[in-house]
Amino acid sequence: MSYPRLFTTPGVGDFAEEVDAERQRQLAKFGDQHHPDGTGNKSQQEYADVKRRWCEAAFGSGYGTWADILAEEVAEVEAERDPAALRTELVQVAAVCAAWIADIDSRTTPDHVCNSIMARGERARKAERATNLLADSHRRAEQAQAAIARVREIARRLQAHAVGFQDVLDDSDRDPWAKTVRADIVDLLAALDDTRGN
Ligand SMILES: [Mg+2]
Repeated sequence: MSYPRLFTTPGVGDFAEEVDAERQRQLAKFGDQHHPDGTGNKSQQEYADVKRRWCEAAFGSGYGTWADILAEEVAEVEAERDPAALRTELVQVAAVCAAWIADIDSRTTPDHVCNSIMARGERARKAERATNLLADSHRRAEQAQAAIARVREIARRLQAHAVGFQDVLDDSDRDPWAKTVRADIVDLLAALDDTRGN
């Protein structure tokens, strides 16, 4: 009696099923294939040494990547002439592919979580924009009130000067001058008073 084989590493079962599906597509497209290995010559072995040193240096400096690891494993496949060792190296390539895919899957965030995070971000940005607009509006209102207060103070001073200047005017000038200037100052103060409600 045979039992189903269990995969002990998380993600490897899914990986195997996807590889199986891909193999079916390959068989449908190319049929059962048989080719020479084409591996194990001197330049391929030297290249494997280069890729091994490259990968060690990359991880040694803290900048290693999955691409570095897979490139090293593929180079080791190409360097191997013995069929049993070649098979072992091919399994190592497959294992690195499974690990790389598991890493990709581990950092993939489901769509509904992404949408929720984006919606929260958009709400926060809108709230911040509204707060900034309100603060800006308050600041402008305060600036306008301060400007009006300064003008009102100047108008009061003009009113006081107008009274003082009347003392040096001739009788013939006093009335028209006083009427005109006083009327304008009264108008100015009235206009300023109208802004109090703003
Ligand atoms: Mg290897």
